[in-house]
Amino acid sequence: MNTQSTKNNTAKTGAINNVVIAGGGTAGWMAAAAFAKLVGKNINVTLVESDQIPTVGVGEATIPTLHIFHDLLKIKESEFMAATNASFKLGISFENWRDQNKDYIHSFGYLGQGCWAAGFQHFWLKGQQQNIASEIGDYCPEHLACRKQKFAVVSNQDRNHAFHLDAGLYAKFLRQFAEQHGATRIEGKIEQVNLEPQNGFIESLSLENGKTVAGDLFIDCTGFVGLLIEKALHTGYEDWSHWLPCDSAIAVQTEQVKPALPYTRSIAHPFGWQWKIPLQNRMGNGMVFCSKHVSDEEAKATLLGNIEGKLLNEPKIIKYRTGTRRKHWNKNCVAVGLSSGFLEPLESTSIHLIQQSIIRLLQHLPSKAMEQSLADDFNAKMRFEIDNIRDFIVMHYKVTERTDSAFWRYCKTMPIPQGLKSRIDLFEESAQAFKTDGELFGETSWIQVMIGQGLMPQSYHPIVDNMSDQELKNFLDTIKNSIAKRVDSLPHHLDFIRQYCLAKPM
Ligand code: FAD
Repeated sequence: MNTQSTKNNTAKTGAINNVVIAGGGTAGWMAAAAFAKLVGKNINVTLVESDQIPTVGVGEATIPTLHIFHDLLKIKESEFMAATNASFKLGISFENWRDQNKDYIHSFGYLGQGCWAAGFQHFWLKGQQQNIASEIGDYCPEHLACRKQKFAVVSNQDRNHAFHLDAGLYAKFLRQFAEQHGATRIEGKIEQVNLEPQNGFIESLSLENGKTVAGDLFIDCTGFVGLLIEKALHTGYEDWSHWLPCDSAIAVQTEQVKPALPYTRSIAHPFGWQWKIPLQNRMGNGMVFCSKHVSDEEAKATLLGNIEGKLLNEPKIIKYRTGTRRKHWNKNCVAVGLSSGFLEPLESTSIHLIQQSIIRLLQHLPSKAMEQSLADDFNAKMRFEIDNIRDFIVMHYKVTERTDSAFWRYCKTMPIPQGLKSRIDLFEESAQAFKTDGELFGETSWIQVMIGQGLMPQSYHPIVDNMSDQELKNFLDTIKNSIAKRVDSLPHHLDFIRQYCLAKPM
C-alpha cells in the first residue's frame, strides 16, 4: 500500500501558495474575489475560464445572507446594486402553491413577539380562533412592506433584505474587484485535468491553448459538468430527484413593463412553477418543470403565455438533476457552485451556498498537506446545511392541497426525509418550530411557509391562555398597528432605489 495516499498529501508541507479556480461564473468570481481580498497577500489566486463555454446565465434572486459576504469583502451595497441593476427583495410571493388562487408571502423578517415559552405563532393562532387576529403577514414588517411596495435601508435596524441582480453583471463586477485585488484571469478551455500518479491529487490543468496551470488547491467552479470534482476525481453524486422531481428549466428575459416589485414571484403550474425576478431595467422569467409530466415545448409555451413585455433573448433550456456531490471537498479539490450539486431555485439558496463554501473553505484553509480532518469537517458542515435547506424546499411541494395534476398528486403523497416529517408533525400537533445551529432557515420561515401551504396547527401553547381575550386583542393590535405605522412611513421601493442605487442606462 502506498502510505502517501492514505489520508492526505503528506509528502508536502508548508502553506499553500497557489489557488486555482476553474470556471468564471458567479461561483468562480465570488471565490476569486474572496480569496484575492482576504488571503491574496500570501497566496496567488488564478482563475481559468473559457469564453467558448457560457455560464448558466441564471441565478438572479438572493437571500439576506449575501450581506455577510459583501461585508467581509467591504463591498458597498449601493455601488454593487447600481453596477448590477439590482432591486431589493423582501421575500417571495408563492402563488397557487397551496392551491389554485391561494397565495402567501414568505418574507425575510421576524414575526410579532413571543415569550420565553412560546413563539408569536401561538398567540396568533388563538387570535385567529377568536377572530381577533388578521393574516399572519400583518405582524411582520417585511411582509407588509412587500404588499405595500415600501422599502428603505434603516441604519439601526436588521438588514432583512436581499437583492434581485443581473447575474452577468454581478460576475463582471466581481471580476473587476478580484483583479483589482490581485487575482489573475487566464482565458482558455480546460482540456485535461492532470493527476499526481502516486495519490490522485490534482497537479495541474492543461488548456486547449497549450498552457498548463499548476496549483496546490483547486476550486471547481465549472458548473454542472463538475470537470475536476467529478470528471477527474469521480467523487459521485447523491440523487434527490425522488424528493425534488423538477429537472428542467427555461429562462428568458423580458422588458420591464411594470414597476419592479420588492419581492420575487413564484407561480405554481400543473407541472412545476414559474419565477418572475424584477431588476431595475428588466424582468428575469423562467419555468421550472418536471420532464416526466410535461414536454419542453409545452412548458415553454406556458411560460411565454404567462409573461409580459418584449423578449430580450432567446428562451434557454437548462437540464439538471437535483442532488449533491458525495463530497464537496475531495483530495485537493473543493467544488463550489453548481459543480457541488443543485437543489433547485425555489428559495434562491444557491448563491448563499456558494458563499458558505467559500467562507468555510477560508476558515478551513489547509496547508499543502491537505489535512483530511479539515476536509472531513468541511464536508460534514456543508452536508448538514444542505440537508436542512433541501428539507425546507421539499416541504413546499409536500404540504399542498393541490391534487389537480399527476405532478402535484405525486408531490403530495411522496415519502419525505424523516427529519422533515418530524418537523411537520411537530408543527401540526403543537405549533412548534425550531432552528438548530448551522441551519439557514429560521422559525419564521418555517412558520410562514407551513401556514401558507395550508398546514394549520391543531393547538397552541397553553401559556397563551394566561392572557384574557381582551389582553390578547390589545397585544395583537399593538404589534400590528406599530408595524403598519413603521411601514407606512417608508418610501416607495422605487423612490428609494432612485436616490440610493440607480443603475446607469445601458
Ligand atoms: P456556471 O455559471 O455554469 O459557470 C461555469 C463556468 O465554468 C463558466 O465560466 C464556464 O466558462 C466555465 N467552464 C466550464 N467548463 C470549462 C472548461 N472546460 N474550460 C474552462 N472553463 C470552463 N441561484 C440563486 O442563488 N438564486 C436563483 O434565483 C437561482 N436561480 C436559478 C435558476 C435555475 C434554472 C438554475 C439552473 C440555477 C439557479 N440558481 C440560482 C443557481 C445559480 O445559477 C448558480 O448557483 C450560479 O449561477 C453559479 O453557477 P456556477 O458559477 O457554479 O456555474
